Amino acid sequence: MTSAPITSALMSNYGNPELEFDHGKGCYLFTPTGERYLDFTMGIAVNCLGHCHPHLIAALQEQSQKIWHSSNLFRIPQAERLARRLVELTFADRVFFSNSGTEAVEAGFKIMRRYHYSRGEAQRVRIIALSQSFHGRTLAPLAASANPLHVEGFLTGDPGFDQVPWNDIAALRAAITDTTAGVILEPIQGEGGIRVTPFDYLRQVRELCDEKGILLMFDEVQSGVGRSGYLYAYQASGVAPDLLASAKGLGGGFPIGACIASERAAAPMVAGTHGSTFGGNPLATAVGNAVLDVIMAPGFLDEMMQRSAQLCAGLADIIADYPHIVSQQTGMGLMLGIKCIVSNTDLATALKEARLLVVKAGGNSLRLLPPLNVTAAEVDQALAIIRATCANWPTRGD
Ligand SMILES: *Cc1c(COP(=O)(O)O)cnc(C)c1O
Repeated sequence: MTSAPITSALMSNYGNPELEFDHGKGCYLFTPTGERYLDFTMGIAVNCLGHCHPHLIAALQEQSQKIWHSSNLFRIPQAERLARRLVELTFADRVFFSNSGTEAVEAGFKIMRRYHYSRGEAQRVRIIALSQSFHGRTLAPLAASANPLHVEGFLTGDPGFDQVPWNDIAALRAAITDTTAGVILEPIQGEGGIRVTPFDYLRQVRELCDEKGILLMFDEVQSGVGRSGYLYAYQASGVAPDLLASAKGLGGGFPIGACIASERAAAPMVAGTHGSTFGGNPLATAVGNAVLDVIMAPGFLDEMMQRSAQLCAGLADIIADYPHIVSQQTGMGLMLGIKCIVSNTDLATALKEARLLVVKAGGNSLRLLPPLNVTAAEVDQALAIIRATCANWPTRGD
């Protein structure tokens, strides 16, 4: 008897990936038949401490035997502790917990509007975002980025967002009107191709927002929680926002997001204005605290920056040797991009066949997102795979 083709009951929105993993350990993933892959995707910058980190397992197991979920009808000490730590470590005074990045962004959008509403400027509802940005897949973040590939068939009317070119302060100034509530941007763009937003531009945006009396939100869903070499990338620039969206790495693989805010921005969010059933539950915030324990331990980010330097130096050598395959290295910390001359899909596939997993990004680029505790030997191994893949590239012009 011939077996029927196996079709998945999952919706097809993620395509049909074939690779399947049974377990992970540190920087490695293992298939059900025991094949080992070096994982430089880390669940798209989520598993910041690699797979199955013992401190995270311990926190999850301990909390799972006490209380998983109680709802925001009651005090949640784990959430209060995580919020307090985020406040102490950043510009912020207040934290709202969500379960994902898009919800953290969405909370920030609501806060922007409510802020102006509470000051008698209810007409200030429009939010300005930058070209090639990515802020999530629910309707408001989708409308903010307005990526034509993502919005088709999903938006109707004028959802209240404007887009301006990245790193163009004159265009931003021209787009601000008396209906503008605020600006959202990624200090390091991720999905659009790893691109560090110039610090000087961040400073000018901050000044412009202050001049116009509007709020500035940084989307650090991908760049946050140590990935830039700082807890949040904005800290490298010295420019603080009013609101910041965090998620991905914040739970090290457990779903959690946060919208962190200054007192001024958060003030109108009085009882009843916003909520999330799961947001900030004991299990998620216990794991979030465990992530911070490791990332904020003395020397952790310094060690990580040495791995970043090692990886960048190795990539620069590869780019110099194979300029017909890869052309430029971008990003900072361990949020690194490689611009490809050949198709990024082809290169990602070849690397996968050589057992190195990377993520594609916009602008025909690849993202390297190793765990923040990647070892020197693992970085060398990844570089060796990339080099060998370039050396064996079938279409090279000789
Ligand atoms: C991934 C990402 C989001 C969306 O996060 P989800 O958890 O998928 O909702 C938003 N902004 C940025 C910058 C991201 O990288």
